[in-house]
Amino acid sequence: MDRWVRSCYKKKSGYAFAKKAEDIAREYGIDRIARLASNENPEALSPAALKAAEEALRTVNRYPDERVNVLMNALRAHYAHEHFVTGVGMDGVIETVIRTLVDPGEKVAISTPTFSFYALAAMGQGAEVVTVPREADYSVDTKKLIKAAKDAKITVLCSPNNPTGNATGIDDVREILEGIEGVLFLDNAYVEFSETDYLPLMKKHENLILGRTFSKVYSLAGLRIGYAFTPRWLPPWYSRAGTPFTVNSVSMAAAAAALGDTAHAERYIAQVKRWRKRFADEVKYPALPSDANFVMIDVSPHKSDEMVEELARKGVVVRSCRSFTGLEDHYIRVNVGEDWENELFIAGINAV
Ligand SMILES: *Cc1c(COP(=O)(O)O)cnc(C)c1O
Repeated sequence: MDRWVRSCYKKKSGYAFAKKAEDIAREYGIDRIARLASNENPEALSPAALKAAEEALRTVNRYPDERVNVLMNALRAHYAHEHFVTGVGMDGVIETVIRTLVDPGEKVAISTPTFSFYALAAMGQGAEVVTVPREADYSVDTKKLIKAAKDAKITVLCSPNNPTGNATGIDDVREILEGIEGVLFLDNAYVEFSETDYLPLMKKHENLILGRTFSKVYSLAGLRIGYAFTPRWLPPWYSRAGTPFTVNSVSMAAAAAALGDTAHAERYIAQVKRWRKRFADEVKYPALPSDANFVMIDVSPHKSDEMVEELARKGVVVRSCRSFTGLEDHYIRVNVGEDWENELFIAGINAV
């Protein structure tokens, strides 16, 4: 019965998903759909990751290693950093970090427009969500953010930002870390496509958590695995707040192996750098400069959903930006896919 459901979930709609390729295929009778709505790597997972996953499948009668050693050691070897937490996607990490740090009624400050799950996760923990709008060019006014987030337990900044694509400079992030009293969760899901590396900041700042994911460049979105670089103090508390086994054994094994296949990642990174420039140059609507594997395009005078529907008709799935709080209703987000997908998208949008 609905009356038993918490009121916070009745006040706000849930996560907005892109339309399913299978549904579009059926609706318009198209058999090959360009899937450019979810920022995934179109290439299948690394063969090394597949092999590791297959091997791990043989032992799923046993519980996974709660210390996540295979993956932790792979991360420590890959990056010069010691402390990590893992989760069911970075989404899982975000939820557990909030559960670890935020008491009901405490503030979570979010720089918007951005990825919607932060606010949903914070709301679910009974936090007070404070949104801090970006400037007209989607840059972050650090003074404004610090002022609004001063007494927040967690401040969330996405860089490169989803959906706008721009990154915040390292000096600005340092200023935020020094200006706030709480913790900064820096969502770094698209780091591999960007030139900005925040890792050096981890050495000096006890209040930085740097979130990462295997869902994008590593082609493991379906295995739901994410992680974060953390200061030393966080992991023991995170373990107390989280579910007893945060990560399944198949995902853990695949992610550890995927990390070692740099050629697999490099191929998509090169593809992204080629095509995000072509999107900007060849699409007749203005594209925002992007440091990610997607670009946000201003499709006015069309509305977001209207353009998404026009493209679906042509067999191209892109993301409507209508559901992003604080964004006007005339943007779409499109990620770099395979050549034929990108070409179909450019031809399609230029015909609208
Ligand atoms: C894709 C994405 C994530 C991570 O997603 P998971 O699949 O849960 O790891 C996190 N933040 C942003 C901004 C994203 O776009």
